Amino acid sequence: MKHETKVLVIGGGMTGLCAAYYLARQVGEEALMLIEAEPAVGGTSRTDYEDGFTCEWGPNGFLDKEPLTLRWAEDLGITTEIQRSDEASAHRFLYRNGRLHEIKGPPAFFFSPLLSRRARARLLCEPFVRGKRDDSPETIWDFAARRIGREAADILVSSMVSGVYGGDAKKLSLAHCFPQMAAMEREYGSLTRALFSKKRSNKAASAAGPSGTLTSFNKGIGFLPEAAAQQLNRCIRTGVGATRVRRIKDAYEITTTTGDTIAARAVVVAVPAFTAAAMTEGLDQHLPAALKGIPYAGLSVICAGYRRDDVGHDLDGFGFLAPRTEDLRALGCIWTSTIFPGRAPVDWVMLRVMYGGSTDPDAVTLDDSELVACLEKDIHPLLDICRRPEFLRVYRHKRGIPQYHLGHGVRLKSIEAAEAHNPGLVFAGNAYRGVSLNDCVVSAHRAVEKVMKAIEPS
Ligand SMILES: Cc1cc2nc3c(=O)[nH]c(=O)nc-3n(C[C@H](O)[C@H](O)[C@H](O)COP(=O)(O)OP(=O)(O)OC[C@H]3O[C@@H](n4cnc5c(N)ncnc54)[C@H](O)[C@@H]3O)c2cc1C
Repeated sequence: MKHETKVLVIGGGMTGLCAAYYLARQVGEEALMLIEAEPAVGGTSRTDYEDGFTCEWGPNGFLDKEPLTLRWAEDLGITTEIQRSDEASAHRFLYRNGRLHEIKGPPAFFFSPLLSRRARARLLCEPFVRGKRDDSPETIWDFAARRIGREAADILVSSMVSGVYGGDAKKLSLAHCFPQMAAMEREYGSLTRALFSKKRSNKAASAAGPSGTLTSFNKGIGFLPEAAAQQLNRCIRTGVGATRVRRIKDAYEITTTTGDTIAARAVVVAVPAFTAAAMTEGLDQHLPAALKGIPYAGLSVICAGYRRDDVGHDLDGFGFLAPRTEDLRALGCIWTSTIFPGRAPVDWVMLRVMYGGSTDPDAVTLDDSELVACLEKDIHPLLDICRRPEFLRVYRHKRGIPQYHLGHGVRLKSIEAAEAHNPGLVFAGNAYRGVSLNDCVVSAHRAVEKVMKAIEPS
């Protein structure tokens, strides 16, 4: 069957839904269609409710620093459902030398045994380290080692990188993963000076973290895409995957897994980069290689429920990260029922533990019993847990989080060139300019702007 629409969005994850929502407001619902390959929308941002536990497939929430994300919730009329992380989650921990250390700000940090004395002394030299003189690409680890020393790079920075990206700090590009850090060095000459200056001026920074408070919804993060899908109901076709995007003069023809074709004036491709590569082959010479060149890290997410009495630790905090240089296979453990009270039944707790990432690709192939064995070895002794989890859900993301390795900038340029050669074709989502939900929302707005420029040039 042949269909026609003015604008087609391919992919119903957070990015595709956000783009579709704001496009519908501009072009009208009748001129918009969103196709999603899976039977349900949400992509990795979905939530299951079972036996009183609220389990997130992927993201826990977003930081409340991006006004566009909050505005989306407002526009959807769901701000009353917003749940901010509990104050207790301001306490964050790192695993080192067999135990958990609370991460404290200065001056307490300098007396903590988390880093060796030498490494702490090296940290104090940061304000005097000269900035980088050229603009050659640098990995996150090289930047951190240069500014704060190798040990702090391994312990403080690499663990954060594996927590956020499931990535390897020695491969990821600083400029594309943490552009704000590169900017801090450029503008202030030192991270320490930049942090002090920002602290003075940013009164909004919360105790839960310098960049905002982790925010979700009472029914979990999946509530956001569900609310958007409800409002876009008439435009969404689930169980329909795009297989090919062809340009035909000033428009596009999309073939689907259901054997249909859709003609559209503009197309937002909001699927993972490797899928986008397959469907856009033939559109532009350098595009497939650029899209295929964005690797992904796999992750296994375990939601484990325990009776409160079976856990000796007070779980008074956010959870902990484990540096890759330490002897723990888990990337980290989040104390979900502390961060968001109500996510486990009364007298129970829920932990969320992540395995895998680009330094441990085999972890996504572990079955449930192997993962429980990992929990028992890694997590139980640390949190004084005496029994196996009585509730267990595992979410495996074989290609979960895109990795912006060195060279990402060159790939982005090729993708942008392909967009410029094909007006009305836009690539959006976590593969390009940031992996967080906030970044996805920003990416969706970029897509809306580019589509509107293409279909209604001023
Ligand atoms: C384990 C994990 C934990 C995370 N934690 C956080 C967190 O706490 N905070 C945070 O901000 N971010 C977090 N992230 C990142 C964030 O979840 C993602 O970057 C974001 O959800 C990506 O949204 P997206 O719409 O770009 O892509 P996706 O969610 O991947 O959506 C793409 C959609 O396209 C569909 N699709 C694929 N192929 C086709 C096709 N051929 N035709 C049609 N549709 C297709 C897919 O089914 C999917 O629905 C986490 C990610 C993971 C994996």
